Amino acid sequence: MVSSEAVPYAKTGGLADVAGALPLALAKLGHDVILLLPRYRCVSESSRSFRSVCRLHVPTPQGRIDTLIEEDVIHVGEGDRRVRVWTIRNEGFFDRPGLYQDHGMDYPDNLDRFTFFCRATIEVLAYLRTACRWKTDILHLHDWQTALCAAYLNTVDRDRPEVQGVRTVLTLHNVGYQGLFPGDQFEKTGLPPSLFNPVALEYYGLVNLLKGGIVFADYVTTVSPTYAREILTPEFGFGLEGVLRNRVDRLLGILNGIDIDRWNPETDSYLPANYSAIDRSGKLKCKQVLQREFQLAETSVPLLGVIARLTSQKGLDLVADIIPQLMAMDVQLVVLGTGEPELESKFKMFQARYPHRMGLHIGFDEGLAHRIEGGADLFVMPSRYEPCGLSQLYSLRYGTVPVVRKTGGLADTVMPLPSMSRQAGQATGFHVEADTADVLLAVLRRAVATYHDQPIWDQLVKSGMTTDVSWTRSANAYDQLFMSLVKRERPYSS
Ligand code: ADP
Repeated sequence: MVSSEAVPYAKTGGLADVAGALPLALAKLGHDVILLLPRYRCVSESSRSFRSVCRLHVPTPQGRIDTLIEEDVIHVGEGDRRVRVWTIRNEGFFDRPGLYQDHGMDYPDNLDRFTFFCRATIEVLAYLRTACRWKTDILHLHDWQTALCAAYLNTVDRDRPEVQGVRTVLTLHNVGYQGLFPGDQFEKTGLPPSLFNPVALEYYGLVNLLKGGIVFADYVTTVSPTYAREILTPEFGFGLEGVLRNRVDRLLGILNGIDIDRWNPETDSYLPANYSAIDRSGKLKCKQVLQREFQLAETSVPLLGVIARLTSQKGLDLVADIIPQLMAMDVQLVVLGTGEPELESKFKMFQARYPHRMGLHIGFDEGLAHRIEGGADLFVMPSRYEPCGLSQLYSLRYGTVPVVRKTGGLADTVMPLPSMSRQAGQATGFHVEADTADVLLAVLRRAVATYHDQPIWDQLVKSGMTTDVSWTRSANAYDQLFMSLVKRERPYSS
């Protein structure tokens, strides 16, 4: 498993949750998993400890670069199951304050950094085969930062015996982020110039790493069945819909799960009180403490929570647009996020206008994310597109009813309350059908009205809290795909 981020080592978004949890779930199924990560500064500063494994020489277009591989071991369940986490060290590339950027600006050498990471990955595969007699069956890649590995294995490294027979699976966590670089930097990838063409890595004169991964991976997956269909269209494909359509027989949507130990309201140590689907009294305490934390009135009005990267993808401009109407509705709102400066300023301006009804924290704060999931009544996630989305899954588990845009994984994971129904049935939340502020406001009005209808609300909360959002089902789907690739069978399709 190769990822540019994974909890508990480095995180900027949902990819880290997936790359942190999926290896453990696969190990539980009996797979022997090694997770490769860059050795960022935050990894060295984490509380985990590492031991040296080996030094490798990594051939790059800039010459040979040495790296130290270090290992942390995560034990999984009972017995000797474990996941080995190997970090790839290079101070110049990775010992920096951010993962991909600093002060909102991408690092100018990201192509060099992730080329090095991918080249080092190939050397790790060769080392495992020759020095450890450990053959990699599947190389599971995540997003553009790792996509070059698929291109290397199918081109420049194709005839190296130490890496032959490795099958690649590329998982697309968000097709909106493709790893685009100026065309004159193509030689930094170390791939032959002939691959800088529109059927391989070129995208209108630019280098497109994700495209290369899609073209060369043995199989492509994405993180929900609906998103797997959506990305074949111009609206969601971000220009790669044609490339993806070419691979449609090798494209599968597998829903993400969540780490149900890390996100468990019964044991979560970030929460001021714990609770379960059967006894939810602790949730009330969580709400009161959250209200106090943000100096909101300690009343029983519905508390709406938002946790997200503040980008237009997440539709939070729509939330900002309706704050005056929301504040007139006798609700409270707590927002945690960081991102586009314009959106940050807008939320700051509203928070100053409604200090006793709206709480705001600009920044990244894991503990606060848990406290909002625990303390809020409703979770608002009006994403314009959402490959899978994790926050709505945490919300289900924490009894915080999600109000989500009907798109991608949000549509697949939240069962909407039918309109006019007096029964919640299997419903777990609300769908927003269109990406306009008016429609969002109308759905939120309905959700708030439902909050005051105790029996239906209880049913919604209970159904959400008892929904299976664990990795078990998803890990089985990856297992089935991996096994079919190893056996060279034709994998099933969604
Ligand atoms: P994405 O990966 O597109 O950002 P997801 O919903 O898949 O969206 O995952 C977001 C993850 O990042 C969740 O675990 C969420 O709790 C977390 N997160 C997002 N913003 C923040 C923040 N400002 N502080 C803490 N956690 C955050």
